[in-house]
Amino acid sequence: MPQVFKTIAELREALAAVRGAGDRRTVGLVPTMGYLHDGHRSLIRKARETDDTVVLSIFVNPLQFGPTEDFDRYPRDAERDLSIAAEAGVDFVFMPEVAEIYPQYPLATSVTAGEAGRRYCGASRPGHFDGVTTIVAKLFNIVQPDRAYFGLKDLQQVAIIEQMTRDLNFPVDIVPCPTVREPDGLAMSSRNVYLSPEERRQATVLSAALGQTEEWLAEPAIDAAELERRLRAAISAAPLADIDYVAIAAYPSLLPLPGGVPLGEALDGTGDRKIAVLLAVKFGNTRLIDNGIFQLTGVSAHV
Ligand code: AMP
Repeated sequence: MPQVFKTIAELREALAAVRGAGDRRTVGLVPTMGYLHDGHRSLIRKARETDDTVVLSIFVNPLQFGPTEDFDRYPRDAERDLSIAAEAGVDFVFMPEVAEIYPQYPLATSVTAGEAGRRYCGASRPGHFDGVTTIVAKLFNIVQPDRAYFGLKDLQQVAIIEQMTRDLNFPVDIVPCPTVREPDGLAMSSRNVYLSPEERRQATVLSAALGQTEEWLAEPAIDAAELERRLRAAISAAPLADIDYVAIAAYPSLLPLPGGVPLGEALDGTGDRKIAVLLAVKFGNTRLIDNGIFQLTGVSAHV
């Protein structure tokens, strides 16, 4: 069974003991909001393969939720999470209360994600990525991991955390991990439990649209506007889909790509070689995101 810590002081003490135990031992951190699924499991597995000590944090971070968002009803099941953590070979679980992390709320000092945090999900969820960078910076300082594992399911989050790590000189390697999907293609998410059976059925349009993107990108003249139009049409085939955004961006910078010129030409201005398609779509009250990374040469790196 993993050791479970509710306080920063106790976790730090246990980590200091591990680090002081002779040989240099690496620490891997997997930050989550709990309600664990196979996506989280894949991050833990990767950390288990790479690091000597694996720390799983479970914290539903109020700072990254907007006032009308689902903080209160976000699914939580500590007992189930702990048994998954045990099965996956986690050493330390850090599950603090909100008051342990934010004794003073809101904080006087915080980390902002800058302009990258105002695009895409940041445009629909103002302040969200500032909440993410602030909690991740705090977790990096609390755990002082050698590596931290994040899912490419949240592609913009990975890009923002990599940027923050460079900008603030955190001595942490960020390890991006591929998106884990249900057998029908739906990206796994703790929020999938909110979906009604009919919404769940229609939600497969996101991964299906990303699958079709590979074929569309084989057309040399296609531009961002036309690709966006086709993606919107494919998603709108699901009557319950309410599109928040469809974005075509350069990867890894995630700079938006202009329409009007073939995608290859639009990429030339960015220094990037791949494109990312980012999708956010609501089904009822549930907002789902998904994305794919593609090469324009026809060889796809769709994850
Ligand atoms: P969350 O608990 O939703 O905040 O996610 C915690 C971590 O798990 C983040 O780094 C997510 O990107 C990652 N994650 C969530 N869903 C998936 C998935 N389907 N595949 C891979 N990683 C995921």
